[in-house]
Amino acid sequence: MSRYTLRARWVLPIDSPPIAGGYVSIVDGVIAEVGNGNPNRGSVTDLGEAVLVPGLVNAHAHLEFSGLAKPLGKPGMSLPAWIRSVIADRGRGDRNAAAAIASGLQESAAAGVVAIGEIATSPPTMYDFEDLPQTTQFQEAIGFSAGRVDSVFSEVERRVDAGGSGAGISPHAPYTVHPRLLTRLVDLAIAHKLPVAMHLAESREELELLADGTGPFQELLEERSMWDAAAISRGSRPLDYLRELSRAERSLVIHGNYLDAEEIAFLAERRERMSVVYCPRTHAYFGHAPYPLEAMLAAGVRVALGTDSRASNPDLDLLKEAQFTAAKFPSIDPATIIRMVTFDAAVALGIGESFGSLTPGKRASLAMLRCNNQLSDPYAAILTLGAQVRNLEIG
Ligand SMILES: [Zn+2]
Repeated sequence: MSRYTLRARWVLPIDSPPIAGGYVSIVDGVIAEVGNGNPNRGSVTDLGEAVLVPGLVNAHAHLEFSGLAKPLGKPGMSLPAWIRSVIADRGRGDRNAAAAIASGLQESAAAGVVAIGEIATSPPTMYDFEDLPQTTQFQEAIGFSAGRVDSVFSEVERRVDAGGSGAGISPHAPYTVHPRLLTRLVDLAIAHKLPVAMHLAESREELELLADGTGPFQELLEERSMWDAAAISRGSRPLDYLRELSRAERSLVIHGNYLDAEEIAFLAERRERMSVVYCPRTHAYFGHAPYPLEAMLAAGVRVALGTDSRASNPDLDLLKEAQFTAAKFPSIDPATIIRMVTFDAAVALGIGESFGSLTPGKRASLAMLRCNNQLSDPYAAILTLGAQVRNLEIG
């Protein structure tokens, strides 16, 4: 049995108040005790002026783009225009998904990230990584026309069977998934008790497609011979998709930039099963309307943060997303923002039993933060730009 203890200026268990001069004792890779003062057994390592937090949980990423040096397209471009750049990138001959995923896992680990909600287009073997971060691999499904429903469904079913315990399902978005395909994928998720992640209410162009069947997404689908005029009933809205997703045991609404008050209330009522993932710097990259974060939190929606991918974000540093959010929403309690990259993200992904808080019995995956400023409020200190994060995975 290996037992040792880490002590720091602050310990933030997340599910209980901050502990000044706290410690975390670890036995065989599991958190055994969290407290303050002097633990009575084992060796003690004092980390000094540092903040110990649970390892960070990135609720949304696409690691296949981690090899990009900079985002695709340019800031302020429309989502449909950007999707064209993504399609072009996926068609590149020199693309190496395995190397990109390995680099994304490495970059995430260095940023203190211990778990990732990953939208997967590659086989599970590509995610073999010696240690954390672990990935929940949401198998991506794209099939907009009725004629594609059967074949896409079969392919996802096969990949889910191959994916094992870490699998999830991702019907990509309303503009790429036929409603009947969505229903079948949610049924599949229910049968296998898997979480579902779907990009939803991300752009105004998506709302236009749902309401009227027109606009830049219709043109893009037409151009790619994917358009099916009967796929979406006129007058559809994100709420129709939320209703469908709500049948799953657990679902993640990715972005939700343009959810309305009724949709926000719908999600708030189901916060134990449904979460929203806000991707702050990706949201800013596209220059969307202001994010309804305060309205969501006031209503009681569970919100987690995600980096999205390097195709729309400069890096995979999740703490920077939290810091960006703190700067953008000074009215929001810093402790709430830290929960969005720890506890709430872990619950959103369904891995709250092992991750998200420093709680006895959970896996000992910690992140240590060093802050340049005074540590009178530890939450605020780590949300100040310049705080350094280091992953402390304890074997
Ligand atoms: Zn995404």
